[in-house]
Amino acid sequence: MKWTQPLAIPPHHLPPLSMSSCSKSPANSGEVAGSNSMAWVKMFKKPGEGLKKSYQPGSMLSLALTKGLLNEPGQNSCFLNSAVQVLWQLDIFRRSLRQLSGHFCLGDACIFCALKSIFSQFQQSRERVLPSDSLRNALAETFKDEQRFQLGLMDDAAECFENILERIHLHMVSDTATDACSSKSCITHQKFAMMLYEQFVCRCCGASSDPHPFTEFVHYVSTTALCQQVDRIFGKNERPRSDMFGELLQAANSTGDLRSCPSDCGQSIKIRRVLMNCPEIVTIGFVWDAEQSDLTDDVIWSLGPRLNLCGLFNRVTDENAKRSELHLVGMICFSSKHYSAFAYHTKSSKWIAYVDHLLVP
Ligand SMILES: [Zn+2]
Ligand SMILES: [Zn+2]
Ligand SMILES: [Zn+2]
Repeated sequence: MKWTQPLAIPPHHLPPLSMSSCSKSPANSGEVAGSNSMAWVKMFKKPGEGLKKSYQPGSMLSLALTKGLLNEPGQNSCFLNSAVQVLWQLDIFRRSLRQLSGHFCLGDACIFCALKSIFSQFQQSRERVLPSDSLRNALAETFKDEQRFQLGLMDDAAECFENILERIHLHMVSDTATDACSSKSCITHQKFAMMLYEQFVCRCCGASSDPHPFTEFVHYVSTTALCQQVDRIFGKNERPRSDMFGELLQAANSTGDLRSCPSDCGQSIKIRRVLMNCPEIVTIGFVWDAEQSDLTDDVIWSLGPRLNLCGLFNRVTDENAKRSELHLVGMICFSSKHYSAFAYHTKSSKWIAYVDHLLVP
């Protein structure tokens, strides 16, 4: 029998551990839909006025409340378990979900009910390891027609994470138009959504394309492009400053996105991404472009524990977003065809790793 078990490790041990376990892309498994699957999810929590509050004694999740999730042979539930563990460790998400009850229920296929049930067991059960079957079943039932997240099959943790968020939106507002959601009870949009628009503006003649507005819950960045930018800006021997992580991600995200000027002035111009709101949680998905990547060390090299939104986007319009700095609190890593989750436990200032252990029956 296999299960995931929380394990406290000192923070300085984390990056090598998490990254060395990250050397392969999920596409490796051969069962994952889409070749562009990503290996990582990172969460950044907005400190702002919430920081003091979250550091108050007793307000944080206790390590004693940290439980593992079962992943028995053949279940291949590590992608789901990792997503659930990271969601549970996000204080903002956990507390907000607890306050919600009314929703459009889908009975046995209700992802909302299944997630609520796991969270209440995390809080109340005396067991150290719990099954995630109800959520696994609800997810499989919900995505039956698309043949995604089906029972027994491995899938992509970051896509699972994103889809759980999208489903919560649907359970709250029952509206498929996800871009214009302003429901106060929709945690997905209130806490996670990045409201953006993209536009090409020519610095030479001033011509611009029509702005393209959209909403995203996970901001994807190519690891290849990220490492190219690190090489370009710093060379091989200099380590990027930790406060430059946002800028590096932005540079990586705009490489290759060149178009010719809409007024045909002959210039090639870059895309600009403008953030219009202030998300409380920002999730970055790293896309590994090759099945076997030798970029693992370079990606570790570029990582910073803090992220500012003005660095991440070309322009930020919200005043709070301009001032906020986000802190890394969780990640999901893929290695040896297996996902593990890591979460920063603010009360003890420790990283917690959810790693599979083998139990001989
Ligand atoms: Zn329900
Ligand atoms: Zn919503
Ligand atoms: Zn032009």
